[in-house]
Amino acid sequence: MWIYLNDRFVTEQEAVVSVFDHGFLYGDGVYETIRSYGSRIFMRDQHLARLRRSAEGIGLAIPIPEQQWPALLHEAMEKNVVGQDHRDAYLRITISRGPGDIGLDPSLCPTATVVIMTKPLQPPPPEQYKTGVSLIVANTRRNLPSALSPQIKATNFLNNILAKREAIAAGAFDSILLNWESQLTECTVSNIFFVLAGRLCTPSLDCGLLDGITRDLLLGLARDAQIPVSEGHFGVESLHQADECFLTNTTMEVMPVTRVDGHPVGKGTPGPITQQLHGQFIANRARFLEP
Ligand code: PLP
Repeated sequence: MWIYLNDRFVTEQEAVVSVFDHGFLYGDGVYETIRSYGSRIFMRDQHLARLRRSAEGIGLAIPIPEQQWPALLHEAMEKNVVGQDHRDAYLRITISRGPGDIGLDPSLCPTATVVIMTKPLQPPPPEQYKTGVSLIVANTRRNLPSALSPQIKATNFLNNILAKREAIAAGAFDSILLNWESQLTECTVSNIFFVLAGRLCTPSLDCGLLDGITRDLLLGLARDAQIPVSEGHFGVESLHQADECFLTNTTMEVMPVTRVDGHPVGKGTPGPITQQLHGQFIANRARFLEP
């Protein structure tokens, strides 16, 4: 596997970062997870814009000019022979504060570290879309946005990792994190939607969650399909009353949820609105790819 590291492609063995890198020492960095369908990157500009916003959120200058990114991402896919027909690519960009003496002051690190990894995308198994997945409500609360904004996709992912550990311990697919007021926010790497009395509901951004690119796209598709939509503040009880539930992210697209805390959601099978929206997503996908 070839890895882009700072200014060139190196082999996996050469792709090493200093122990003084503040990304390692303090989780001081940002990242993005992107995918392609064939050779075309999905929502490329939106992902790159979010990377820029995350970097701005921590006062980190991205050392590669904006206009160079598309070509660089394609070179990274080509190097590893991914991003071709029948070989969708998974791309991960990581930008850390870079190496510097121990201490929190970012000015100790004159040069940011840039890493681009590409590999074949591993989509979830098809059975999972048929059976749906199970969630638990984590005891771990989502970071208070005024303490650490969930909009910053930071390499310090401990908040989500702690919730993921709870899910693993409970034998669940993932955890839902509640906010400081016990309202639903999101799962560890995805946004959550549910259907209540024919209305598609999802926590609003002010509950403290990442502004998911797939979330936004799904809201648009639901409005196009004249499905009533509510972005709001919801407690766990609304999920227990829901007829359907699903998760969204770049790699899963739309994943049905059929159990929450051991209780079936609705009939305990993927619901009609979930399936309709996933169908619409697939039908419209080409509109969201690079030319
Ligand atoms: N929420 C969190 C915490 C995430 O890490 C992610 C994706 O990585 C998402 C939501 C979904 O975002 P997207 O649809 O942009 O992939």
